[in-house]
Amino acid sequence: MRMILVGPPGAGKGTQAARLITLLDIPHISTGDMLRAAVKEGTELGKQADAFMKRGDLVPDDVVIGMVIERISMEDCGSGMMLDGFPRTRPQAEALGVALEQAGLALDSVVLIEVPDGSIVSRIVGRRSDPKTGRIYHLEFDPPAEDVVDRLVQRKDDTREACVARLRKYHSETAPIIPFYDALGILRRVDGVGSPDEVTERVRAALKV
Ligand code: AMP
Repeated sequence: MRMILVGPPGAGKGTQAARLITLLDIPHISTGDMLRAAVKEGTELGKQADAFMKRGDLVPDDVVIGMVIERISMEDCGSGMMLDGFPRTRPQAEALGVALEQAGLALDSVVLIEVPDGSIVSRIVGRRSDPKTGRIYHLEFDPPAEDVVDRLVQRKDDTREACVARLRKYHSETAPIIPFYDALGILRRVDGVGSPDEVTERVRAALKV
């Protein structure tokens, strides 16, 4: 299975991806995770991306496209992959299409997790992750157990200001990829409002897995 998860920030892409990759046994390619790792390691790419990410802007296409093309040419992506957070612009979608075509591969599905704008800010500002397990929680909607709460961390771009900027970017830059994939007949729309389990069931139904 070669698939993409699309949706506004805070839609639950990371949460759903973590569940689906186990089920489908495919690598999870999250450009957000890759960029955060590069920033943490202080690589050249991380230095280029840091300021864009902090203010909720998109990292320039050429930087992200190069990073993803290198990653998806690795052996573990031979029989499938789950792209999460990529593509986020039309040029990224077009570059991915060219790279896959050159490799004789095609996308099976693009899952769009839909969440209304009005719920996004509260979903994002309450989000925390466990650096030990990678598990994502929400302080109110998916509260952590008492023994893990003290070690949870908040993403630097999960502030109200950066969140508003990211949502604006989503509508101006990312939403245009939706008709692009719809025209290819591979877009599946899923309601992202509900518990993580409910959304997983909807995604599974949409993918028939
Ligand atoms: P995410 O974890 O997917 O929410 O991504 C966090 C941040 O990383 C985004 O707000 C962007 O600054 C950057 N980023 C992640 N993926 C991309 C992408 N495909 N294109 C441009 N910037 C990206």
